Amino acid sequence: MEYVAAAALLLAAAVVLYNRRRTARLLRRLDEMVARAMDGSFSDEHFDESRLSSLESRMRQYLLANTSSARQLQAQKNRISGLISDVSHQTKTPVANLKLYAELLAEQPLTPQGQACVQNIQTQAEKLQALMEALVKTSRLETGLLTLHPVEGAVAPVVERAVAQYGPEADRKGIALRWDCTEETAVFDPKWTEEAVCNLLDNALKYTPSGGSVSVEMRSFPLFCAVRVTDTGPGLPEAEQARIFNRFYRANGAYQAEGVGLGLYLTRQIAENQGGYVKVNSVPGQGSTFSLYLPRA
Ligand code: ADP
Repeated sequence: MEYVAAAALLLAAAVVLYNRRRTARLLRRLDEMVARAMDGSFSDEHFDESRLSSLESRMRQYLLANTSSARQLQAQKNRISGLISDVSHQTKTPVANLKLYAELLAEQPLTPQGQACVQNIQTQAEKLQALMEALVKTSRLETGLLTLHPVEGAVAPVVERAVAQYGPEADRKGIALRWDCTEETAVFDPKWTEEAVCNLLDNALKYTPSGGSVSVEMRSFPLFCAVRVTDTGPGLPEAEQARIFNRFYRANGAYQAEGVGLGLYLTRQIAENQGGYVKVNSVPGQGSTFSLYLPRA
C-alpha cells in the first residue's frame, strides 16, 4: 500500500515537473517569437511549424502576417519617398530657370505693375524651392531613409551658430535678438538640431512685428536640456497650439507671412528622431515660447 502511495506521489511530482518545463519552454518560445517580430527578424525559418503547439502555431501565423504587412508598408513608404525625391530633382532645373528669367526680366525697363509681377514670380519660385526641399527632408526622416546620428556634446555651439545666422534678419526687421547659453550637454545630432533651432528662430522673427524681441535660452532638467525660443509676436490660441505641428498646417493670421507649413513638422520629427520632443507655450497677444527638448542620455 505504501509503495503504491509513494509511486503515485512520484508520478504526480513527475507530471508537475513535466508541465512546468513545458510551460516554461512555451513561454520562452513565445517570448523569442515576439522579440524577433519586434526587431524585424521574424521569419518562417526560425520556427518549424511541425514542432509547435497550437498556440505557438497561431502566434506564428499572426506574426508572419504582421511582419509581411509591416514590410509592405515600409516598401510603400520608401516608394513614396523615392517619388518625392524624383519630383524634387526634376523640378530643380525648371525652378532655377524660372528664377534666372525673372532676374533677367527685372533688369528690363518695366511698368510698376510689371515690376510687381516679376517680384511675385521670384517669391513664388523661392517658395516652391523651399517646399520641395522641406518635403524631401520630412519624407526621408519619416521613412527612415535619413537617420540622425546623436552624439553627446555641448548644446551652446549649436545654438550660437543658429543665432548667428539670424542676426542680420533681426537687424533688418528691427527686432532685438538676445541669447544666453549655459554649459549644458545632451545627446543630439548637431546638424539636424541646428536646423530645428533655425526653424524656431525663423518663425519667431517672421511672426514677431518690428520693434519686438526674440530671446534664446537654455534650461536644464534631470532628463533633458531644453533650448527655448521666446518671442513677443502674436501668440497662438490654445486650439491652434497642438495643430501647428501638423504637416502643412498654418494658423489663422499666418497667411500674410511667407511659409509652407512644414517648419514645425520637420522640427518635431527631428526632436522625436533623437529621443526628444518640442512644445509650445503661448498667450495670444503676448507671444510664444517654443522649447526643443534634447535628451541627456
Ligand atoms: P510656416 O511658418 O511655414 O507657416 P511652420 O510649420 O513653421 O510653417 O509653422 C506652422 C504655423 O505655426 C505657422 O503658419 C504659424 O501660424 C504658427 N507659428 C509658428 N511659429 C510661430 C510663432 N513664433 N508665433 C506665432 N505663430 C507661430
